[in-house]
Amino acid sequence: MSTNLFGEASGDWLGGVGLPHGPRIGARSLVSRVASAAAELAWPTRCVLCDAPGVLLCKRCREGLPWFSQRWACPNCGAPFGWVSCTECGASRGELWESRACVCALPLADAGRALALSYKDAGERRLAPVIAAVMACALDEASAWPAADGAARFDASELDAVCFVPATRAAYARRGFDHMEDVSRSLAGMLGLPLADVLARPEAQDQRRLGREERFANAACSTIVVGDVTGCSLLLVDDVVTTGASMRACARDLLAHGADSVTACALARTW
Ligand SMILES: [Zn+2]
Ligand SMILES: [Zn+2]
Repeated sequence: MSTNLFGEASGDWLGGVGLPHGPRIGARSLVSRVASAAAELAWPTRCVLCDAPGVLLCKRCREGLPWFSQRWACPNCGAPFGWVSCTECGASRGELWESRACVCALPLADAGRALALSYKDAGERRLAPVIAAVMACALDEASAWPAADGAARFDASELDAVCFVPATRAAYARRGFDHMEDVSRSLAGMLGLPLADVLARPEAQDQRRLGREERFANAACSTIVVGDVTGCSLLLVDDVVTTGASMRACARDLLAHGADSVTACALARTW
């Protein structure tokens, strides 16, 4: 059975009691299905945007998402309307980000914010493939338009793997999961690419031993590269781009460790 990126033909991971894997009928699977059905009876699946029953993001809300037009978006920082001259970054002055392109799907307001918060902070982890599908749609549209280097902003065949900006230790402790890991895994599956878990957060050092600038960097909990990325072209995924500092720092690290190129993608962008 064929499905679109939102899995509508199966109606599986968008809602209902279906499980995201195939029809394995082992004891664990049966227990999971019973537990899932019980949870569905107690807490029926509803659209996170309009509360309609049955799915996590209903067709009407999906079709009404305030997509950025990739045609007019800034290829450097992902802001809408920045194609000719971007007010959000210095692309028009040649100040290019470390990533070769940045693709953002939605503004961080209303639907974009609701999707991100429902997933990250309201504990609706089943939204991971939905968010991945939204990002895949934006990437698909961006593939028709050039990055600063003249090549397509996105071309899955040119990429080796998907990686993600890891959650801060505080966020991980608060939520109990790394929110971009599941999204990145789903997105990697949709794009036919492997997931490369190559970025990590180092242990925060004792601030008292650090100078002023080191304290700032330490407080920001910068990431470190923990895998071999030599020669790899990577898709770097995060949920939100605000200033772009996290995304740029990760891209810079990956390139410094030998990555060939980094293409950035986020669900939402401040605008
Ligand atoms: Zn809805
Ligand atoms: Zn820009």
